[in-house]
Amino acid sequence: MLYLVENKRVIVVGIPGVGKTTIIKKIVEMIKDNTKSVNVKSFGSIMLQVAKENGIQDRDELRTLPVLEQKKLQKNTAEKLSKIEDDVVIIDTHAFIKTPEGYNPGLPYHVLKIIEPTHFILVTAKTEEIYNRRMKDETRNRDRVSINTIKKELGIQSAMMSACSILTGSPLKPVLNSEGKLEEAADQIIQAIGL
Ligand code: ATP
Ligand code: MG
Repeated sequence: MLYLVENKRVIVVGIPGVGKTTIIKKIVEMIKDNTKSVNVKSFGSIMLQVAKENGIQDRDELRTLPVLEQKKLQKNTAEKLSKIEDDVVIIDTHAFIKTPEGYNPGLPYHVLKIIEPTHFILVTAKTEEIYNRRMKDETRNRDRVSINTIKKELGIQSAMMSACSILTGSPLKPVLNSEGKLEEAADQIIQAIGL
């Protein structure tokens, strides 16, 4: 039987500090199939490039913009991402962004229709581990939150991600990024994408 070979557009989400960027770096190091071109993009970094044209300086300032502004930036970012033609495009992003107006979806329907993701990877970890990683990481200006808030965020995140999977018909793979077990988490993702 002949199967269609399509480019893979893999969306990796997880709440801040769970380890997405670290895992993606590891995946690129570990990929065995050298015949495929792999391109990693951070949704937030591209959004920041677009926002900089409008006077925003800091990446962590993006989430405080009015939702309507964030929506326009998300659309422009999705359009840029959809033009990338590598065999595998890995997009590092968030299921939601906390705003004063509520939880703003990182992957609203209008963005999903532009990107057409083929896989969703949901990176999780124990609440305490996420809390400690946020606290230890001094390279970022992260929101300081309690363990209870992290639990709540994990719940919102699953709800957001099941909607994404249903709307696109693309599979959702949860991956546990346990402390000190980065390679195992990266390997599970490589298996799921088939790299
Ligand atoms: P953000 O959404 O804010 O960009 P992130 O999910 O990309 O966050 P990282 O910056 O990759 O998170 O990781 C946060 C911190 O957790 C870093 O200091 C990283 O070294 C550490 N970390 C990630 N995975 C593990 C792991 N498996 N074991 C121990 N430390 C880890
Ligand atoms: Mg990151």
